[in-house]
Amino acid sequence: MKKTLADIDVKKKKVLVRVDYNVPLDANLKITDDKRITATLPTIKYLLEKNAAIVLMSHLGKPRGKVVPEMSLKPIAIRLGEILGKSIKFIGGDCISIESKKAAKDLKLGQILLLENLRFRSEEEGKNAVSEKDKSLMDVFAKNLASMGEVFIQDAFGTVHRSHASTVNIVKYIKEAVAGFLVEKELKFLREALDNPIRPFLAILGGVKVSDKINVIENLLDKVDSIIIGGAMAYTFLKAQGVSIGMSLVENDKLDLALDLLKKAKERKVNFLLIVDHVIANKVDLVGKSVLLDTSVETTIDEAIRDGFMGVDIGIKSIKKFAEVIKSAKTIVWNGPLGIFEIDEFSKGTVEIAKMIADATDEGAISVVGGGDSISAVKKAGIDKRISHISTGGGASLEFLEGKDLPGIAVLIDKK
Ligand code: ADP
Ligand code: MG
Repeated sequence: MKKTLADIDVKKKKVLVRVDYNVPLDANLKITDDKRITATLPTIKYLLEKNAAIVLMSHLGKPRGKVVPEMSLKPIAIRLGEILGKSIKFIGGDCISIESKKAAKDLKLGQILLLENLRFRSEEEGKNAVSEKDKSLMDVFAKNLASMGEVFIQDAFGTVHRSHASTVNIVKYIKEAVAGFLVEKELKFLREALDNPIRPFLAILGGVKVSDKINVIENLLDKVDSIIIGGAMAYTFLKAQGVSIGMSLVENDKLDLALDLLKKAKERKVNFLLIVDHVIANKVDLVGKSVLLDTSVETTIDEAIRDGFMGVDIGIKSIKKFAEVIKSAKTIVWNGPLGIFEIDEFSKGTVEIAKMIADATDEGAISVVGGGDSISAVKKAGIDKRISHISTGGGASLEFLEGKDLPGIAVLIDKK
């Protein structure tokens, strides 16, 4: 367990907070989803109550070490100000410029400053930082950031799986480094699900690639009672078992691995559920996520898919089969849509499963959803408010499910 800001003295202090305000912006630089901003309000409001001076820092997009005006955090400063009903100080350009440092120095108690995009500086990510010199540049940058506050709070859950200057190096140069309330909440839900699940414990995995999620499957096989595999990932498992899958997406170099995972599941007495019927289509624009006008769409009678067709969603029989397991589950972890849910005709499986997870949650189960597309899917299903916990960090939650140590968490102070 890590210390949080409630465990240290933040009263009237200058507090540096790493947040993840990497929000989606449209072409007019309007924020299309501010969940990552609102998710940090518990930490910010607590600090305001304690009359702290707050220096916020974040990245946005992938500017790769250059100043890219479209990736400025200015619109985020404005939105945060609207939400809090308070003006947020913002200095453009370089987050550790003389002006930025002066703004941090002059910041009064109860005021908030948001620094410009950390990734405008290449030292933040330290990409290609292999030599000792490169690494020491990351340290210098981190030290500059650290000089702008007295204590450090890590509340950027979406970024804690990265070893960056503002997530790892910075703690060397600051007196105390603790978790914010968002990070605490994310860890609580993920940890309780993995280490102390109320059983039966069910994992539902979908999405595109087995290779992305092998380690998650492996790690979960030791913990879950049941696992449902849907989405394109399922076709690698089906093909490995000799089922014809037509032109469905498949990873031919992962067939042995799929068999190995199935064997492990059997040994560990994990109920491993695969798709038993499919919605199939003969033409899909996978990039533009659209169905072409002359596309034929059918539902199969069993797990086999005929030539010239690809699996695009789970069928009715699969939905019914999965329903039984979802209904009785008491802990549910879900990552990865079960079909090409972006296309309405192929979203039924994902939407139905999402609704069943919400129903199970209403009946007392704990549900945790992670992954960018999975979050869009629960929103599309209109049940996002009924999920126990929606993670703000896709990559971070996956690495946690893999059983990996998250570097940005590891460096924080332990609770005694
Ligand atoms: P997340 O972002 O939640 O981790 P992924 O990125 O792993 O999820 O996978 C999401 C993508 O998987 C979606 O874009 C969806 O269209 C795609 N997908 C799901 N099922 C299929 C399928 N049968 N064929 C092709 N793509 C699929
Ligand atoms: Mg995704």
